This record gives sequence, C-alpha cells and structure tokens, in this order.
Amino acid sequence: MSEIRKDPLSNDWVIIASERGGRPTDLKTETTKEEKGKFCPFCDSSEVSEPVKPHSICAATFAPDGKWMTRILPNKYPALMPEPILAQREMDDLYHCLTGVGGHEILVDSPKHDETLATMSKEQIEAIITNYQCRYSYWRKDPRITYLSVFKNHGKVAGASLHHPHSQLVATPLIPPRLTTELNESKEYFKLNNECLMCKILKTELENKHRLIFENNSVAAFCSFAPRFPFESLIVPKRHSASLEEITKEEISDLAEAMSVIFKKLDKLLNDPPFNYLIHVAPLRTPGLLYYHWHIEVILRLSQPAGFEWGSGVYINSVPPEDAALELNKVKIR
Ligand SMILES: [Zn+2]
Ligand SMILES: [Zn+2]
Ligand SMILES: [Zn+2]
Repeated sequence: MSEIRKDPLSNDWVIIASERGGRPTDLKTETTKEEKGKFCPFCDSSEVSEPVKPHSICAATFAPDGKWMTRILPNKYPALMPEPILAQREMDDLYHCLTGVGGHEILVDSPKHDETLATMSKEQIEAIITNYQCRYSYWRKDPRITYLSVFKNHGKVAGASLHHPHSQLVATPLIPPRLTTELNESKEYFKLNNECLMCKILKTELENKHRLIFENNSVAAFCSFAPRFPFESLIVPKRHSASLEEITKEEISDLAEAMSVIFKKLDKLLNDPPFNYLIHVAPLRTPGLLYYHWHIEVILRLSQPAGFEWGSGVYINSVPPEDAALELNKVKIR
C-alpha cells in the first residue's frame, strides 16, 4: 500500500510507492570509467598558486608536511561574479530582477585525483569541513551576500563535470526559496512549541531508530521521513546551532567520521552512486537563530525526477526510508 508523507521542514509531499520498485539494492549503479589522460585543472600539476584572490582569505588547508590538502579556485564559468557593485533590485509590476552579484568558487577537496569520500582518510574529510567553515566566515563579511550555498556534486548524473573530488560554493544576494520554506516552518514550530523543529526531529529519530543510520557523540544521521529520492538522508549535529561556522574541533572530527562511514556504506551497497549533498545553514545576516538548526542533506541520484515531479512538485519514491536504513545498517565496512 502506498503512503503519502509530508516533510516537516521543506513541506515536500512524497508518495512512498514501494510496489513500484524492487529491492533497494536493485538501484546499484554501473561504474562509468573516466577517459584516461584527460587534463585535470584541479590536480597538483596545474598551478597551485592559481589566483585565489581577491575573494579568498584562507586559500588552502595544509598537511603537517606542508603539502596542500584542500584549496580554493575561482570557478572558470561562474554563475555569479563578485563585482564591486551593490545588489540592486529593479522591479516593475510584473518582472523582478536582481543584479547577478555574488560568488562562485571551486573547493578542491583533495590533491588526489581518484579519491572519493568513501576512500579518503578521516583527516582529509576534516580538512574539507574546515575549508567550508573558512568560506562561511569569509563570505559573511560581504554585506551584499545574504546566503552561501555549499554543495558537492559527485558523478556525471549529479552534475559533476570533473572527476577530481571537489565541492562548490555559490554566494547569493538572495535567500533560496527552499531555505525560506525551512526557515518559515522552523519558526512557526518554535512559536507553537518553544522548541527547535530539527532538535525535535533528531530526538524522535534517535528514540525510534527506524531510520537511524549513524550516531556518535555529536552527530547523527538518518534517512529522511519523507525522502524525495531513494536513500535521501540528513546528517545533523546534535548540539543546536544555526550555522556550520560555530562547529568545534571535536565536532569536525565527529562529522568527518559520520561522513566517512555513510559514504563508505553507500559506496559498498550501491557501487559508487552519483549523489549531491548540500549544506543548509541560517542566512548570513541572521546567525544564532534559536529556531533554525544547520544540517547536511544527502541526495542520491539513482532515479531522476520526471514529468509528474516537475509539474506537481510532488515526488514518487519506490524505496521506503525504513528499508533504506535497514539495508545501510547491514553493510559492514571494516
Ligand atoms: Zn585531478
Ligand atoms: Zn535545534
Ligand atoms: Zn534542509
């Protein structure tokens, strides 16, 4: 029997139609090998000193031996440019328009071309998180920017045009609508219950464990209650905080462990599936919100939205999150 579920944060409606699919692991992907000898602009051989200015203060994370672990490059084809102009709003009655001011950076996640989150050391993932933290503090200083989207595309289907492990950042003069929905839902819930919505979700998931896939001292991860896509999951810090920037050293280590375990398991279960993850934080101009709780959304791209999804905004998912969690919890990674 299908079930229609609503996600409390995003307000997305999802039809969980398990009869439509086979077993969750039937979604295994075929590995697509990269062409050999293709030039990689993110590799060590290409200039490490490639301009990180003017919009970078901490260009890279370095290992104790002085070699770079992560670095930042301006995007060659930026969606938005950090021009020194104000984000002006031009409007008439019908069409609204903002100047395309902002930033678009490539965060190179490792010097090793063939590494993935599933094969990286925990120290390398810690360096990636530290790099994210640095970019949030940097962009917060630019009064024109109201939101920073940090995300990772892995695999061609998920939008990664280059194989070398990297994340991206887009700084915008607007708060994305999806975030606005989450902020509004969280604010409303807080008003009614005097409690953060994500703290409540976390408590529920840790108690009933139906969808829990990872837990350590400061981080928990679970398959979403109303996932748009099979294996869609949330990685959530246990301590209430509205922004990734406030993360401590211990929490970075715990988060790196969570990411390492989760991506190792996904890799083993589904054969290096294409995915996106995106970090949701409070808008840059309103840090320290009591009602908003930052998190990472992990979306596997094993099935693509089609006409119904595009047209209605309602998703059909053939894998119940409880089954996805069960499969992930069976995977042994050591
Ligand atoms: Zn490379
Ligand atoms: Zn919270
Ligand atoms: Zn979110």
